[in-house]
Amino acid sequence: MKITFLGTGTSDGVPMVACGCRVCRSRDRRDNRTRTSAMIEHEGKRIIIDTGIDFRAQMLRHRVNRIDAIMLTHPHADHVFGLDELRQYNRIAGTIPIYANRYTIGEIHTRFGYFFNPPQRGGGVSDIDLIEMKRPMQVCGLTVTPLPVRHGILDILGFQIEDTAYITDASFIPETVLKKIRGCSVLVLNALRYRKHPTHFNIAQAVAIAEQVKAKHTYFVHMTHDVMHRELVRELPRGMAPAYDGLSLTV
Ligand SMILES: [Zn+2]
Ligand SMILES: [Zn+2]
Ligand SMILES: [Zn+2]
Repeated sequence: MKITFLGTGTSDGVPMVACGCRVCRSRDRRDNRTRTSAMIEHEGKRIIIDTGIDFRAQMLRHRVNRIDAIMLTHPHADHVFGLDELRQYNRIAGTIPIYANRYTIGEIHTRFGYFFNPPQRGGGVSDIDLIEMKRPMQVCGLTVTPLPVRHGILDILGFQIEDTAYITDASFIPETVLKKIRGCSVLVLNALRYRKHPTHFNIAQAVAIAEQVKAKHTYFVHMTHDVMHRELVRELPRGMAPAYDGLSLTV
C-alpha cells in the first residue's frame, strides 16, 4: 500500500494567516503545511484519513478522481470541515462510507445535520454512511484496527492500517495501544511544537513515544509554525523525521 501525506500542519496551517514569522516566510516548501490528512492507496482503492478545511485543495493538488472510504480520527474543524466537499465524489462513487468512533459520529450528526435532513432540495448535500469502528475491520481490502487514544479529555481514534500506525492529535496513548503497535513498520504521530501543550504531544513527548514504539520509520505530523523543517530533521534521532505535504511512502 502507499501512504501520501496530504497535509502535515496544525489547525492554523503554516503559513498562518497574519503571521510574518521566519517559518511562515520560509521558502522551503516543506514548511508549507496544510491541515493534517493522509491518503492510503491499495489495489486501485483510496482511503482518506481526515477531511479538514484544506480537503478540496489537497484533492486538487493530488488530482484525486475517486474516493472509496474515509476514516475520521475526531471531529475538530481541521479534521472534518471538508466533508461538505464530497458531493462530486458521491456523483462518481455513490455513498461514501466513513469510519469513526461513536463520539465522532455523534458530532458529525450535530454539525452536519443538513446531510441527513436537508431543509430543501437544491444544490445537494454530501452522501455519507457513518460506520462505527470498534474492532478491526476490512476497509478497501486492508485490515484496519482502531487505536483509542486521548486528545486532552477527548476519546479519539488512531488507526493501524496493516503494519502502519497513524495517530494524530493525541496527548496520551494507553499502554494497550502502545503494545499493539510496538515494532510496526511505520508510525505516524503528532508532534505539535517544542513547548508543551495541554491537548497535543510536543516534540519531546512524541520522540519519547516513538522510542517506546520502535517503529522502523517514524514520521511526525500536525506541526505549528514554531517548527522549521530542516532544523527538526537535524535534531531528531535516527529513524524519525518530520513528514511534509506531498511525501509519499510505499509500505
Ligand atoms: Zn488537529
Ligand atoms: Zn508564523
Ligand atoms: Zn484536534
